[in-house]
Parts: sequence; C-alpha cells; structure tokens
Amino acid sequence: MRAHGYIALIAQRKFKEALALVRRENPLTGISGRVCHHPCEEACERRRVDEPLAIAYLKRFIADYELKTNPEMPAPVEKTREEQVAIVGSGPAGLTAAYHLITKGYGVTIFEALPVVGGMLVTGIPPNRLPRNIIQYEVARIKALGVEMRTNTTVGRDITFDDLFKEGYGAIFLAVGAYDSRKLGIPGEDEFEGFLDCLTFLQRVNLGDRSKPGEKICIIGGGNAAIDSARTALRLGCENVTIVYRRSRREMPANPSEIEEAEVEGVKIHYLASPLRILGKNGHVVGMECIRNKLGEPDASGRRRPMPVEGTEFTVDADAIIPAISQHPDLSFLPEGHGFAITRWTTFEVDPQTLQTNKKGIFAGGDAVTGPATVIEAIAAGKKAAEMIDRYLRGLELKFREEESRPSMKLTDEEIQAIEKKPRQRLPKLPLEKRVGNFDEVELGFSEEAAVAEAKRCLRCWTLIRA
Ligand SMILES: Cc1cc2nc3c(=O)[nH]c(=O)nc-3n(C[C@H](O)[C@H](O)[C@H](O)COP(=O)(O)OP(=O)(O)OC[C@H]3O[C@@H](n4cnc5c(N)ncnc54)[C@H](O)[C@@H]3O)c2cc1C
Repeated sequence: MRAHGYIALIAQRKFKEALALVRRENPLTGISGRVCHHPCEEACERRRVDEPLAIAYLKRFIADYELKTNPEMPAPVEKTREEQVAIVGSGPAGLTAAYHLITKGYGVTIFEALPVVGGMLVTGIPPNRLPRNIIQYEVARIKALGVEMRTNTTVGRDITFDDLFKEGYGAIFLAVGAYDSRKLGIPGEDEFEGFLDCLTFLQRVNLGDRSKPGEKICIIGGGNAAIDSARTALRLGCENVTIVYRRSRREMPANPSEIEEAEVEGVKIHYLASPLRILGKNGHVVGMECIRNKLGEPDASGRRRPMPVEGTEFTVDADAIIPAISQHPDLSFLPEGHGFAITRWTTFEVDPQTLQTNKKGIFAGGDAVTGPATVIEAIAAGKKAAEMIDRYLRGLELKFREEESRPSMKLTDEEIQAIEKKPRQRLPKLPLEKRVGNFDEVELGFSEEAAVAEAKRCLRCWTLIRA
C-alpha cells in the first residue's frame, strides 16, 4: 500500500478514517507501528529535504488513538464460503492470513501450540517495546470477526495433517515461525548450568517467570534478540550485562535505536569479539573466553567478515551465558516421512510466487520460509498467503497480483531546495530512572499535535510500503 493516503488523513485529523485505511491491509497496526524496522522511511522523499517522515510512529499513533478514545470490537463477518482454512501458528503471519481469509468469507481456525496467541510478539519481543494490551486488543479484534483460535494444540502431534483435511479444512497455511536456536559450535556449549539460549530465556520471562538467570550475564549476538535479552536481564535486576558481537556497531542487525537505548540503560557491548570457549567450574558457567576480530572483505551477507586477531584472547566473567545468534524453524512436529520439501536452512521450500509448498493445498510463509526475519515481512506473507489460498479454493490460477507499480514521485533538486526545513517530531521516552525493575513501555508515542505536525511534513511522493 501507499503511505501517503493515511498520512494525508492524519494531517486532516481524520484519525479514524486513517486507521480504517491501514487496516484494509494490516490488522496489526499498533504492533507494527511499534516494532517495524520501517524500510519505507528509507524511500521517503522528505529525507532529501531534512529527515524522513516518522511513518511507523504515525501508524502507531492512529492505533493508540482508537484504543484510548473509542476501543471497539468489529462485528462477526458473515460466512459466504463453504470452505474452511486451517492456520498453523498464531504469530503475525498466521494472524494476518486469518484476518484476510475471514473477511473474504471463509471459516478460519488458528491452531497454536502454546497456551498464548501471538507467536514471537508475545514470547520474544518484551513488553517494554510492545505492551501486551496492544497485542491483546489487536488479537481480540481478529477473534471478534469470527476466527476460532485453538491454543495448546500442536499440529503434527495433537492433530495430524490428514485429520485437518478430514475435518473439512480445504487448505492449510503453515506459519510456524523459527523457534530452534542455532548452535555456537564451541567447546563448553550446553555443558554447564547457566547456559541457556535466548528464546528459552525470553519466553520464560515473557510468560511470567521474573527470576534472574544470574548476576553477570553475557549475551552473544547482534540482532534484536540479543538486545532484547540484554535489556530484559537488566530489568530483572541483573548486576552486569554484557553483549559480545563479532562485527562493529555499523554491521549490527538490531534496530539502531534499540542498540542506543541498551547502551544508555547500561548494557556493555564488546564489539569485534567472538566467543572461543565457555568456561565452567563445578558444573556451572563462570565465563567465556573470547578473541578480538578485525574486519576483512564482505561475505555473502554483504557485511565485512570478522577475522580473529591472534594473541588478543580475553575472558568475560559470567554466571549466565545467553547465545542469541540465529534461529531456524523447529520442524520436529512433522511426522516421519512427511514428504515436505525442506531447504538446507531447514525452512519450508515454497513457490515464491504463490507460497504453496510441494503439497497441494498446503501453503507456508513468515519466518518458517524466510528464516528469522521481521514482523512486517510476516504480515506481508500472511496477506499474500490469504490471497493465494482464496484463489486456490476458487479453482483459479495461482498468480500473485503485485501492487500496481506506480513509481514514487521524485522531486527535482530545485523543488527540494524550495521546501522549508521542518525537523521530524521526536518521540518522548520514559526517563531512565523510571525504567528500573519494570517492563513499562519506553517509547511513549506522539501527542495529537505532534502526529498532525509530522503528517503535514509529507511530500506525497507515493512511497510504496509493505503493509
Ligand atoms: C527477541 C526477538 C525480538 C524481535 N524483534 C523484532 C522487531 O523489533 N521488529 C521486527 O520486525 N521483528 C522482530 N523480531 C522478529 C519477529 O518477531 C518475527 O520475524 C515474526 O514474529 C515472525 O512471524 P511468524 O508469524 O512467521 O512466526 P512467529 O511469530 O514465530 O509465530 C509462530 C507461531 O507458530 C507456533 N507453532 C509452531 N509450530 C507449531 C505447530 N506445529 N502447531 C501449532 N503451532 C505451532 C509457535 O508457537 C508460534 O506461536 C524479533 C524476534 C525475536 C526473537
């Protein structure tokens, strides 16, 4: 969709209409307005004048405005189609697919292995970045439309694929995420108490266990999961929290603002360092031996490759070590001889145009296909899957209609120079002293005035955004 439509409505104070427009594509507005890494802002023409528009924060504003002023549940959608669709997994991909399928008139059931709905939104991303009432409200709206949500039900174990087809589901969407942590492959890994992977740690805390994993915590990695683990450990009251990351800050994949907040809150980051071995004593972790790196030529990811510098070994003291290096889908739920085509990255192989797996009527999307990616990509996959499943059930050719590629309007250099500079509105934040010992949200959202002023900075260039 194009961003300028709802931004123009915000500029006119038509907040309700703006939200309705976004929701035509994206039912998780308040969620994506908070955690999206906003690639659309890279394409924003305003960047050439001063700073890009705060597109994600504007999305968040309209969602919060509804929740504050007039929270309401939609009426159930009338079922106009006989067929039912089973969705496996209740993360952003599954929830978005459910939303678009129910609004097309299908019966929709989400099967979720955990007792809670939301996937990584609930088990991974901590409440200081994504408050739970925002997730609960947006999930409740999808439920109110008529989507059935069966928690504590693992497809492949509690109910088989054959059962689903026998129960009358005409198509299945696999949105099972990427829940298996990759190994470090170094001595001492998994050998000592106090060594636990980041997803286990975050899930435990996010589902209510507020016990500290130790006092001196060492986290390995540079993505959102590493930063979230560090900020979570600080909030639990751990004395000393350190991150070891193998490249420099410039290559760190976590959102730059999150890295900044982690450092402000007191997380120490050892850049350009790699773990060599986990150290233990009497069966418990006591530290980690590391080596310093320098950066070499770019690797397949396009980022410069870390190269160990001989003789620079050093030790980090720790009584808990939390690797957060990467994940891949946990496919242990698939029965033996399942016959699904699986890639060498342990993800589902799908036709990229249609998201259909090698099995007719079974589609897959989100992290289960891409490997660990982002919320907005999962939302886009859910929407595409719904469109493909609709075509499949109607017996139509599976062809994805890309959004009309009307180009963004490029302004000339003279036009850009003639525009008055107006800096981007800043988001107020929770003061540092109020963040101690709690998971209160840190970024506080725009006021009405700030949102309208920000929306008025839009140059209406027709920037295309994912959802
Ligand atoms: C700590 C952390 C922080 C992150 N921060 C950000 C961020 O700031 N911004 C961003 O854009 N992205 C972030 N991400 C990534 C983002 O959360 C994921 O890309 C996104 O949630 C993927 O969505 P999904 O729907 O594909 O899968 P998931 O959200 O992983 O949901 C999959 C669901 O499927 C369920 N499931 C699995 N197998 C079965 C089965 N057999 N039967 C039934 N249910 C099953 C799981 O229990 C889970 O609920 C973060 C990830 C982590 C771990």
